[in-house]
Amino acid sequence: MQAVKDFISTFMLLELLKGLRLTGKYFFARKITILYPEEKTPMSPRFRGLHALRRYPNGEERCIACKLCEAVCPALAITIESTQRADGTRRTTRYDIDLTKCIFCGFCEESCPVDSIVETHIHEYHGEQRGDLLFTKEMLLAVGDRYEREIASARETDASYR
Ligand code: SF4
Ligand code: SF4
Repeated sequence: MQAVKDFISTFMLLELLKGLRLTGKYFFARKITILYPEEKTPMSPRFRGLHALRRYPNGEERCIACKLCEAVCPALAITIESTQRADGTRRTTRYDIDLTKCIFCGFCEESCPVDSIVETHIHEYHGEQRGDLLFTKEMLLAVGDRYEREIASARETDASYR
């Protein structure tokens, strides 16, 4: 009996018609795909992308080298070395993040007492050679300097939930 059913189904091209019906349904429906990268989907202010180190408005680095972010990082992606300055404050001499190890969990920014290390909305970056994704302190500060306005705006939007 099943063989007869299969024969009729094949003979009448039922599977093809079923497929065409589905195609027709979505042909006239509202499109849910976008033309990336020209079009972008909305992004949460909590999006966890490329890291950045921030400064205060007077240009001073926020980071006080407490190393909480290094301690909390589950991927051991952060390496910090620090020294004491002449005025008694402590600052990093080295702050590296190995983005090939990072799992973008956000623990580092959650642990930071001075909002220094943050994860930005930037996700369109890549490395072509070994070591390209090892971000040094200078590189992280440069990201922070460049995107400070967007970073501050995202944190302000999310402030009431923190
Ligand atoms: S996002 Fe997570 S894994 Fe990446 S550096 Fe921060 S704490 Fe480490
Ligand atoms: S980025 Fe924040 S948590 Fe990490 S060492 Fe600097 S002050 Fe401490």
